[in-house]
Amino acid sequence: MKKKLLLAIPLCLCPLTAAYSSESGGTTPKVALAVHGGAGNASAEDLPKERETRIRAKLAEALEAGYEILTSGGSAVDAVERTIRLLEDSPLFNAGKGAVFTAAGTNELDASIMDGAKMEAGAVAGVTTIKNPIAAARAVMERTEHVLLAGPAANDFAADAGLETVDSSYFFTERRWQALQERIEREKTEESTKSSRASPRSSGAPEPSTHFGTVGAVALDSMGRIAAGTSTGGMTYKRHGRVGDSPIIGAGTYANGECGVSATGHGEYFIRHAVAFDICARMRYLGLSLLEAATSVVNGTLMEVGGDGGVIAIDTDGNTALVFNTRNMARAWIDSNGEPRTAIFRQ
Ligand code: ASP
Repeated sequence: MKKKLLLAIPLCLCPLTAAYSSESGGTTPKVALAVHGGAGNASAEDLPKERETRIRAKLAEALEAGYEILTSGGSAVDAVERTIRLLEDSPLFNAGKGAVFTAAGTNELDASIMDGAKMEAGAVAGVTTIKNPIAAARAVMERTEHVLLAGPAANDFAADAGLETVDSSYFFTERRWQALQERIEREKTEESTKSSRASPRSSGAPEPSTHFGTVGAVALDSMGRIAAGTSTGGMTYKRHGRVGDSPIIGAGTYANGECGVSATGHGEYFIRHAVAFDICARMRYLGLSLLEAATSVVNGTLMEVGGDGGVIAIDTDGNTALVFNTRNMARAWIDSNGEPRTAIFRQ
C-alpha cells in the first residue's frame, strides 16, 4: 500500500480548498469526498430559500453516504457511485429523475465514471430507460472492454446487465417540462423579432443552464485511490442526440493516480478544452497544486472563451478544489476537520 504522509497544506489560495486527515494515533490514511449538484448563473435572489435548503440537505445526505463508505475502508469507486445514485434519484437535480428535456421533448441521459488507480473508465450517453446511468457507466467499465456505450444499445446493455430499467416517462418532472416550454416560447419570440443582432445561442445552440442540475463526485479512499464520476440530463432544449461533456472521459470526468475531476457547465466548451484532463495534466506536467491547476483552467482557459461552469477536484493528499466561474455551483465537501460542508453561492 502506498505510504501515506500527513503533509502540511501548502499555501492555501482559497477558502474552498480543504484537506482532511483522520488522526487516530499516528499516520492514518486520509479520505476525502467532494460532490457537486451543478453550476449555473442564477443569483441568490432567484433561488427560494426553501429550495436552497432542500438542495443543500440532499447534497449533505449524498456526501454522508459516500463518506461512510470511505471511512469504513470502502473504495473510491463505490463512494462515487453511491453518492451519485442518491442524487440521480432526487428530482432536485438534472440527472436521473429530474433530467432536463431535449428540444424534441425527450430525456437523454449521460454519465461516466473513472477509476484513477486502474486508469479504467466507463460511460453511457443518450440513454433513456436506465434508472441510474452512473451504475450503467460503472458496468461498462467493469464488465466490458469498452469505455463508452451510446443510445438504445446502451439501454439494452444495462437491461442485460441486470440494472434497473424504467419507462422513459419515469424521468418526467413538471418543473423541467415547464422549463422546456419557456425555452420554446423564447425561441419563437426571438425568431419572430428576427433580430439582426441575434446571439449564436438564439440560433438554436443550447444556452448555459441557469439552474442547478448535473451531479458529480470525486473521492479519495483509504488506499490512496481516486475516482470521479458525473451524471446529467444535459442542457434544456439540446438537440436530440447531442452528447455533452459529462460522459466524455477527459472532458467532464477524469481521474488518474494523482488527481480526480468532475465538471459541470456548458459541455461543448469542456469537450473542446479537455477540461478534466487538462487540470490533472497541469498538475503532472507543470507541477501546479490542485487548486492552481483547477483555477487556471476554469477561471483562465474557460473564461477566455466564454465557457460557463465549474469543477470539483481532489488530489492524493486529500486536498479538494471547488472552482467555478458562474454565479453558483451547488457543492458539498469534507473540510479539514472532517466536517461536512455545503454551499451554493460564493462565500
Ligand atoms: N455539462 C452538462 C452538459 O453540457 C450540463 C451541466 O453541467 O449543466 O451536458
